[in-house]
Amino acid sequence: MYPKWHALSGIILVALIWIFIPQIKILYLILIFAAAFLIDFDHYAIAIFRTKKFSLKNAFDYYEKERLKEIKEIKRGIKRKGDFHFFHTIEFQALLGVLGFFWIGFFYLFVGMVFHSLLDLIDMLYKGRIHRREFFFFNWARKRKTKQN
Ligand SMILES: [Zn+2]
Repeated sequence: MYPKWHALSGIILVALIWIFIPQIKILYLILIFAAAFLIDFDHYAIAIFRTKKFSLKNAFDYYEKERLKEIKEIKRGIKRKGDFHFFHTIEFQALLGVLGFFWIGFFYLFVGMVFHSLLDLIDMLYKGRIHRREFFFFNWARKRKTKQN
């Protein structure tokens, strides 16, 4: 899902929370929004890693090419995993959830990221591309290891 839609849905989520829990600290609302939006930083990092270029436009171009490649592959019945995105893994988000017991700020980051991930999930299901994502860090690490051996 495009970052602009995540930004927009993040604003809507934060506004709704603010309406229902008006006494919530502004910092927590900022954390929820930041997490719901900036979680996609992992996509940017992978684009830099793959293309060795730092520009944000370059990252968008990279994912646009990937998207077109993916559409062709799906048409030919090829169901390949896409790039690995660490912030989008269940393990990373569970870790944030656990850290939330130590500092409440992590809990709000967790809320934002889970919200983002749910939207991604719905979007991927809708577009028939759920196979592209690796949801588990340990799966990814295990497959990498067996590939190298
Ligand atoms: Zn995402």
